[in-house]
Amino acid sequence: MTPGNHVPGPARVRFAPSPTGALHVGSARTALYNYLFARHTGGVFILRVEDTDVARSSREFEQSIMDDLLWLGLGWDEGPERGGGAGPYRQSERSAAGVYRDAAKRLLQENKAYHCFCPQERLEELKQDCLDRGEMPRYDRRCALLSEDEIGSRMAAGEPAAIRFKVPAGRKITVADIIHGPTGFESDMLGDFIILRSGGGASYNFAVVVDDIGMEITHVIRGEDHLTNTARQILVFEALGNEPPAFAHHSLIMGPDGGKLSKRHGATSVGEFRSMGYLPGAIVNYLALLSWSPEGGEEKLPLEEMERQFELMRVARSPAIFDIAKLNWLNGLHIRDMSRKDFHEAIQSFLGDAAARKSAGQLAVAEAAIQTALVTLEDAGSLVESFFHAEPLDPAGEAAEIRNSEAGRVLELALEQIDAIKPAAGLDPAAVDRELDEAKNLLGALKSACREENIPPKRLFRTLRIALTGKTSGPELVYLLPGLGRETVRERLEAARRFAAA
Ligand code: GLU
Repeated sequence: MTPGNHVPGPARVRFAPSPTGALHVGSARTALYNYLFARHTGGVFILRVEDTDVARSSREFEQSIMDDLLWLGLGWDEGPERGGGAGPYRQSERSAAGVYRDAAKRLLQENKAYHCFCPQERLEELKQDCLDRGEMPRYDRRCALLSEDEIGSRMAAGEPAAIRFKVPAGRKITVADIIHGPTGFESDMLGDFIILRSGGGASYNFAVVVDDIGMEITHVIRGEDHLTNTARQILVFEALGNEPPAFAHHSLIMGPDGGKLSKRHGATSVGEFRSMGYLPGAIVNYLALLSWSPEGGEEKLPLEEMERQFELMRVARSPAIFDIAKLNWLNGLHIRDMSRKDFHEAIQSFLGDAAARKSAGQLAVAEAAIQTALVTLEDAGSLVESFFHAEPLDPAGEAAEIRNSEAGRVLELALEQIDAIKPAAGLDPAAVDRELDEAKNLLGALKSACREENIPPKRLFRTLRIALTGKTSGPELVYLLPGLGRETVRERLEAARRFAAA
């Protein structure tokens, strides 16, 4: 099998967040690629919580990450709150069950690891010496040379000891990365690394491998900042007697200035984008496209379509630049695709006072109108507000162009037909559609009436718009008429007729 080639059989993949903060869009993208690959191969998507950093991890962060994943539509098959045959799925619980300790013991017995008694101060000094010589910090293997007896007596005396992995000398390690291609590392650059701290906690590079083995992970898909770790992890896989899984390291998300996407670029967490009125479907669509494109080059894709088409081989290596304009564009497209009912529900929390004093029917028409114009749901309140608002007719402003007899005639014709406008009926999408149809007919009839008097349609529409809103741009007339309702339309047309004749 060529790694990543079409459908490589059901994969078992994991998203392994450390619950030390809210879900960053970069991590959400890692989760998404894992999810898509699992679904594409008919495999299993696992959520593993890497909460070994007790000081920085919290259950609140874990919960918020899970909430965000579910909101994005990236539900997991195995993991916390779902269970599964390879649990537990929190590293703290695996640690308590002795999973890492047992694996480290095995490596000790097989002489692939050793106890290290070096105190922190010595390690700091060593590190500094290496840096002073311009070398990568590396452990000098002092404790690898200790005799069995000495180890025994120091352990018996209760001296704290970490366990270090014995990195084989002179090895060239090749990561056969699906996205990056083969990437080579020299084992001599790595230095013997700690796998179990003196307090009993497993290091990241060890816990990950023990868990990837225990959970039978077939593909590790994660950010390329982990590529060097992968070299270490491959050695641990081998030492534990296991084939390493396939690896795919995707690029990281950068801000427009080329720096890693961070607060200074604006919103970075899924939660922030959510409260700014972005849709989950638009976010996953955008994140997928940051480094991937389907064969046909389509840009707007629902999650199910991405599941069908996603291939690791088509993920680009180049850095992914976060482009808010493109996210906005996609968000708008996803908003237009919502059913009226879903849209109505989605914008409720964004409407604020804008909904007050309007009938359900008027709001339904206004919502239908703004759905065609919104970039993010956050703007729903102000757009609804502006839908009902009219600027005063100012002879020195945009309204000046309706101060003439032709405009006056247009307004007269409109007033003659006004009874055709019904008060907007209700939230029912069918009722809204009926009203829009009636408004369309009314405008059609007015157009014919104007044509008979040689008044061009453009003149008609601009005059009506200015009369109804005081402005030359805004929501389409077919929405404005039923949305404002007959009485308001009549008042505004009459005021405009007086203005035109003044
Ligand atoms: N907990 C690690 C992180 O959040 C996971 C890395 C991995 O997937 O191995 O970066």
